[in-house]
Amino acid sequence: MTTPTPSKLAMVPFVSVDNMMQIVNSIGLENMLTELAAYIEDDFKRWELFDKTPRVAAHSAEGVIELMPTSDGEVYGFKYVNGHPKNQQQGFQTVTAFGVLADVSNGYPLLLSEMTILTALRTAATSALVAKYLAPTAANTMAMIGNGAQCEFQALAFKCICGVETVRLYDIDQNATAKAARNLTNQGIKAVSCCSSQEAISGAQIITTCTADKQLATILTDNMVGSGTHINAIGGDCPGKTELHRDILLRSEIFVEYPPQTRIEGEIQQLDNDHEVTEIWKVMTGALKGRRSDTQITLFDSVGFAIEDFSALRYIHDQLSRTGCYVDLDLIADPDDPRDLFGMVLRPQN
Ligand code: NAD
Repeated sequence: MTTPTPSKLAMVPFVSVDNMMQIVNSIGLENMLTELAAYIEDDFKRWELFDKTPRVAAHSAEGVIELMPTSDGEVYGFKYVNGHPKNQQQGFQTVTAFGVLADVSNGYPLLLSEMTILTALRTAATSALVAKYLAPTAANTMAMIGNGAQCEFQALAFKCICGVETVRLYDIDQNATAKAARNLTNQGIKAVSCCSSQEAISGAQIITTCTADKQLATILTDNMVGSGTHINAIGGDCPGKTELHRDILLRSEIFVEYPPQTRIEGEIQQLDNDHEVTEIWKVMTGALKGRRSDTQITLFDSVGFAIEDFSALRYIHDQLSRTGCYVDLDLIADPDDPRDLFGMVLRPQN
């Protein structure tokens, strides 16, 4: 990562939603998902270097607003993100986000970026990266339950990173399934629209649950999950907001990002606090095994962790010179004498 020259320090590169769309389209969605997954994998392999804390959450009856900070000692990053499942009924998105990367040596921001699109990309890249270690070999069909904003990103990440060829779509809202099927046309993946979760999981070796509802929901019951399945559970990511029946958890080998956060927010909030889980970074370094047999049920209890956002911001920062897709933001006061902030404020009067 290159530090800007002193004269440029007052200007902070800002990646707007429009810039992010340009970056995605110039790099190509699948290339970007693959490159993002590599950044996330690199950072997961140096997991122990990072400052880690469960995210700071402000809950309300309607949803949650969260701050997700981390640092590798050289660079600091944080994301602001919300989760409001009822938003889409009023024409707002369930999840929106933005984030900052900063230089630890002087505290100056290096990047301010939209992260609504970037969160969808990093979540999909993380899911597929994890599935590379956990899904049964030669898995080519995925059930995708919940066809909202995250859905197509998940489908394409599993296509380009795991070789998934068919995605079986189901949502309680048929319009969401129709939207996803339409968007996945000509993306090189076969999209099959289904009328129930049961129909969607038929023949699928991977099941992704990506629904939004602030309750202990049961998107999958125990009898729906056959041996050898890999479950990528995305939507249970808040206290009181889960997707899987507890009995599935008891039959599964459970893999998580950061246990102190997942025990609060993930599917495993339904289990005892000492229930054994495996940290996925240890599988990536080779210290622990991922899938051990063809019959094992593996579950990635995904809640989304700060290091994934750090990796995504690090990736976007590295694309600034490659794409030129950003604007300079006059974000940091820049007095001629660093101690004369007051004099700088009066400058227009002179
Ligand atoms: P969204 O509101 O755009 O889509 C959610 C979809 O789920 C909707 O289409 C809704 O109709 C559907 N749904 C609700 N209940 C259902 C049910 N019982 N069966 C089938 N479908 C159902 O939300 P989104 O942005 O796609 O996010 C989906 C979920 O993923 C949210 O809960 C969000 O908090 C979570 N999320 C997790 C991560 C992570 O890192 N783990 C990252 C981003 C989002």
